[in-house]
Amino acid sequence: MDLRITCIPGDGIGPEIIAEAKKVLDTVAKQYGHTMHYTDILMGGASIDVHGVPLTKEAVETAKSGDAVLMGSIGGDTTTSPWYRLEPSLRPEAGLLAIRKELNLFANLRPAVLYDELVAACPLKDEIAAAGFDMMIMRELTGGLYFGEKRTIEENGVRKAVDTLVYDENEIRRIAIKGFDIAMKRRKKVTSVDKANVLASSRLWRSVVDEVAKKYPEVTLEHMLVDNCAMQLVKDPAQFDVILTENMFGDILSDEASMVTGSIGMLASASLNDTKFGLYEPSHGSAPDIAGKDIANPIATVLSAAMMLRYSFDLDREADAVESAVREVLQSGYRTGDIMAEGCIKVGCRQMGDLLADRIK
Ligand code: NAD
Repeated sequence: MDLRITCIPGDGIGPEIIAEAKKVLDTVAKQYGHTMHYTDILMGGASIDVHGVPLTKEAVETAKSGDAVLMGSIGGDTTTSPWYRLEPSLRPEAGLLAIRKELNLFANLRPAVLYDELVAACPLKDEIAAAGFDMMIMRELTGGLYFGEKRTIEENGVRKAVDTLVYDENEIRRIAIKGFDIAMKRRKKVTSVDKANVLASSRLWRSVVDEVAKKYPEVTLEHMLVDNCAMQLVKDPAQFDVILTENMFGDILSDEASMVTGSIGMLASASLNDTKFGLYEPSHGSAPDIAGKDIANPIATVLSAAMMLRYSFDLDREADAVESAVREVLQSGYRTGDIMAEGCIKVGCRQMGDLLADRIK
């Protein structure tokens, strides 16, 4: 199969971690008979330095012409970098918001997995961590409270601010379909999270999700109120497979879920549109404090590349191979500095990439 992948190395550790993800993808291609066609584009600070803007139209067109985008990370030190003296629309992060919009990426996926080997990093009680967890938080990314009408007014000398939470049934249906499709590739359970006891938008959410569920008889659906879900994530995270939720609830719950894994360098993510197209990136930032030192953990980016194989290319066997390689390397005791533990072998970014690629061979 020919895979046309647009790469955004970006800033900080971005180029280092993308290089390792490519190393792993190239090994997958060799082992499984695929051909990778990479095209690099500039975004964020790297684009500002060359073009004066964080994303050019040409870069967007290149991204649109490929099958998927694999991104490192963008941005610099927000207190010292000259990029942050520019007006907000010209700063690195504006490039990321613009590309998400241009590519119509409405579904954000963030897996939260607790690896047996990294249980010590989990901040939960031992007996809860021992049960492990492997969940996928599926967050609607382009609607809801963050995008509804906003205004600040003054009435009789009293300042008042209004944010509007709007969803139409089509926006709910398309993310619900994605959520159920992804559950079909996993353990076939969806927990739809809302606040249907008080919000009209949540009641519509619940009824549309119920309609979509009828087309997926193999998937078990449960509804959960968001406050309960926030508690269950720390009390019994093993119960979750796919958590399907709207924009603001997903923003908060995905950060909570990632924190309970305890290791930022391991967290992958994907943002999808209604085709197979997606943008895949680690959940962490560009880590300017460690850039260029060959100490960054490339695993979150490698796992994002595995998500790309699974969700944009339907190459489940290849994605499994990458995920197994990560487990095996951890089982063998190799760690980058951020996940280092007593008795383990410390390796740099490049060596971690080599180890992962070797396991795939
Ligand atoms: P960060 O995630 O870059 O770093 C937080 C801490 O985690 C740092 O100590 C860093 O060294 C460490 N860290 C992060 N990733 C690591 C990895 N792979 N291996 C080892 N250690 C790792 O967050 P920040 O410092 O708040 O942000 C730095 C820059 O990244 C900012 O400009 C911010 O806007 C940007 N950012 C970009 C994205 C993105 O591109 N999607 C996301 C978040 C932050």
